[in-house]
Parts: sequence; C-alpha cells; structure tokens
Amino acid sequence: MLSSKNLLSNIGSPVLSRKLSLLKTQGFINGKWVTSQGGTKFEILNPSNQSVIASVPDMNAQDTKLAIDAATEAFKSFRNTTAKYRANLLRTWYNLMVEHSEELAKILTQENGKSLAESRAEIAYGNSFVEWFSEESRRINGEILPPTTDNRKLMILKQPAGVAALITPWNFPHAMITRKAGAAIAAGCTCVIKPSEDTPLTALALAQLAEEAGFPSGVINVITTNTNNSPSVGKTICDDERVRVVSFTGSTQVGKILYRQCADNVKKVCLELGGNAPFIVFESANVELAVSGAMVCKFRNTGQTCVSANRFYVHKNVFHEFTSKFLEHMQRDIVLGDGMKPGVTHGPLIKKSQIDMIDNLVRDAVNKGAKLHCGGKRLTNLGELFYSPTLLTGVNENMEIFKKEIFGPIAVIHEFENEDQVLENANNINVGLAGYFYSENLSQIFRVARKMEVGMIGVNEGLISCAEAAFGGVKESGLGREGSKHGVDDFLDIKYLCLGNIKY
Ligand code: ADP
Repeated sequence: MLSSKNLLSNIGSPVLSRKLSLLKTQGFINGKWVTSQGGTKFEILNPSNQSVIASVPDMNAQDTKLAIDAATEAFKSFRNTTAKYRANLLRTWYNLMVEHSEELAKILTQENGKSLAESRAEIAYGNSFVEWFSEESRRINGEILPPTTDNRKLMILKQPAGVAALITPWNFPHAMITRKAGAAIAAGCTCVIKPSEDTPLTALALAQLAEEAGFPSGVINVITTNTNNSPSVGKTICDDERVRVVSFTGSTQVGKILYRQCADNVKKVCLELGGNAPFIVFESANVELAVSGAMVCKFRNTGQTCVSANRFYVHKNVFHEFTSKFLEHMQRDIVLGDGMKPGVTHGPLIKKSQIDMIDNLVRDAVNKGAKLHCGGKRLTNLGELFYSPTLLTGVNENMEIFKKEIFGPIAVIHEFENEDQVLENANNINVGLAGYFYSENLSQIFRVARKMEVGMIGVNEGLISCAEAAFGGVKESGLGREGSKHGVDDFLDIKYLCLGNIKY
C-alpha cells in the first residue's frame, strides 16, 4: 500500500509536485481547512491499484451543522451581492480551473480511475458550467406584468432561495459539483457540498481554487464523509430548516430517501437519478455512425454514467451488421489499464461492489442462455477492479440484466422488427433520463422523439451533454434541470410584488 506521501512518486510528475497544493486533505468550512469534530479520517483509494492516495476527515452530523451555520451566516451578505460581482467571482474561479486543468485531471484519474484523456474531457466539461453560469448570472431577470387595475404596478422578483446542499456522486467528481455550484452561486445561494466518499479530492481541489478566487468565507463549504456517515449527514441536511435547496445526483434509491426527508420542511429539491437509456438503431440508420455513437455512449467512463446506453435495440435488417461492427470496435478501440498510463482509454470500475454487481449480472444472463460475444470476465491481471468489455445478445426478461441499470462495460443488444414495438419496449420502464436513436427518416425522427419517454434525446448522436443544454429526466429519473438557462431555477424563489394605489 502507498501512503499519501507516495502519491508524488506515484504520479511522478514534477509539474504536479510543484502544485501539490491542490491535493487537500481537510474539509473546508467557513473559509478554513478543518479536521472532523470526531477527529477520525478515512482513506481514498486509487481504483486502479488500491493504493491509498490520501486520507480525509470523516465528518458527521456535527460537522454538517457547522457547515450549515457558516453557509447561513454567509448568505446574509452574499444574497445582497450584485449579479456582476457573482459573475466575476465565477469567472475568476473558472479561469483558475482552466489554469489548473491538468492537475485537476490527474487528481481525478487517481481517485476515480478513468483515463487521463477522459478526466481531461470531464474537467473541460465541468469547467464549462462555471463559465456558463458566470454569464447566466447576469441574465436572471425579473418581470413586469400588465396590471388589472390602472393604479397598480405588478412585478416578479427572483431572489436566491438560501443555503443549498449539493450532494454528488463519484462518476463525475468535478462536473457534478460545478454544474450545481455554478448555478447556486449565480443565483446568490451559499453552498454546503457533500462529495462522494469515493472521490472527495477533486471537490476539495475545487474548494481550494474557490478560496484562491476570493470567494467570501462560508459561501462554499465542503464536508467529506465516509459511507457510514453519509445517511446521518444527509438527514441532518434535510432536517435543517435553514437549508432551502437540496440538489442531488446519485442513485434513485438514495434520491427517494432524500425526497422523503425533504418533505418535512418542504425544501426545494433537484434530483438527477438513475437512467436506463435505450439506444435504437432503425433500418434507415447510418450503421457506421451508429456504431461510433454506441461506442462512446456505452463505454465512456467504463459504462459508469447515468446517460450510458443501457439497452441497444437494433432493427433486424441491420442487426448483424451493427453487432459485428460494434464487436470489432470493442475489441480494437478499448485499451484498459491504469488511467495514468499513456495509451489507456478506459479505467477500472470504481469499487468492489460495482464489479461484483456487473459480474453477477453477466453470469446470471449467460447461465440463463444469453449469448456471450466477448468479455464476461474479470481481468485480474490488470487489477482487482478491471472487467472486460462484454457484448451480450439473446437477453430476455427472465434475466436480471434485462431491466437493470448496468453501470459497467456491458452492452446488451436486442433485435426488433417495427417502430411501435421498439418504442413500447423502450418506454416500458419506470425511469427516463436519456435516450438515443439513429434514423435517416425525417418523419420517424420527429415521431420517435415525441414518443420517447425521456428527458434528453440524442438523434444520430451518442454524446449530448453540454452546459447550454437542460440536463434532467422524467419519471423516476428525477426532478428539475441542470445546466442551460433553467439550471438556476431550483436555486431561486419567485416573489410577486403588487404595488397599489399609485396616483398618476
Ligand atoms: P452511487 O451508487 O452512484 O454511489 P449513491 O446514491 O449511493 O450513488 O451516492 C451518491 C451520493 O449520495 C454520494 O455522495 C453518497 O455519499 C451520498 N449518499 C448515500 N447515501 C446517502 C443518504 N442516505 N443521505 C444522503 N446522501 C447519501
């Protein structure tokens, strides 16, 4: 096992060693780097080799209260700041993120496992939300309404909702924070950020850059918690009346717990939960295009994203062509390994529970008669958490994988015959985040786009997220939208103002 000191030699980069100030190992409350009240810590492991990257404070309900205290106090003045001030603050933060992109990417790869190329892409994507919301903050306009009587003036004001708690997952340790925090700060809210126990180091690096950018104390706070403390920290956040917004990205199961807990004091909630994206290839599709879209859509982040293609449906007339070309690309284009190594395209799964889960799904499917075209095994020669990219056909409803969000490098391809049937299958599920389809038929494109029960659609495109777009789902995939001009809505209260008895 490596100690945190060994991170340096582990990364081996003189550039990073000079700037190791971004590798923070304390929580951040009220502008100060702090340990936990209980004095305990937990270790952050590199999923590629299980070495210890660093230890961070295991914060609990008491620490959470302190962070909420700080955010509440800071809100008293931050709520009165001008949009221009907040725009500049975000822009300065963004500029620092750009300047430190490479270091952020290296920290991200170490704690999450994704390849350096994928980390760089995430950093650029995550940074873009801060840039976007620095611009949006100056466009949070109120409204003047036509009055119903001539001696009145009616208006709508938009005001920051208050303290916002941002609870984020491990699969995008950078972007899931910036997408929320950028919007919250633009709106004039102060934040308590609770990153995933698996990837808190990127969050702490972002807090360090916020400090350098001149964020007033208490505007951004980061509490690091281990798995055992997460429920009590979550409950403390939800029970505290001073927290007015909970913005969560993670599993549907935890999202429902938070939604219930937030009911008691009727908080605003924004929930970005699980998906189970259908990816449909119609007969008219450009199959080459569909295969390259499928590769990125399925295997980005080793299949661990909530918008990953989860169920491929391919028309019977192009089924063979699509499946054989997809298989060819899988075997040719994916290089698994430690994400820091040159040439590696994809990293390991994040943790043991994740690799066990997907291995069980594959075994169950194969035992029940699914056809395994490639993969289907752990790659222990690479490390404990590596799994070979796997392609299955012949999957049916008796197999667990049929309806489950896979969250791993497993592609399942079904064959279909007609549009109505495939739409019925695609929609026959209780979630609806992203969906994708490939078609060259214009009427079909509009027809299917209208009928697909999801919040986001890629048409002839497998990678669709950007700061300008509204990210979010329908059904049990969540509530609210992130990014786009709508991303600030969850952090704002609308106040109607009626000025009466005006004498003209
Ligand atoms: P995943 O399975 O992708 O890790 P989770 O929903 O378990 O998704 O985790 C997403 C985030 O929610 C993480 O920061 C995690 O620590 C946090 N979390 C997990 N359980 C709770 C809970 N009961 N209350 C609040 N946050 C929680």
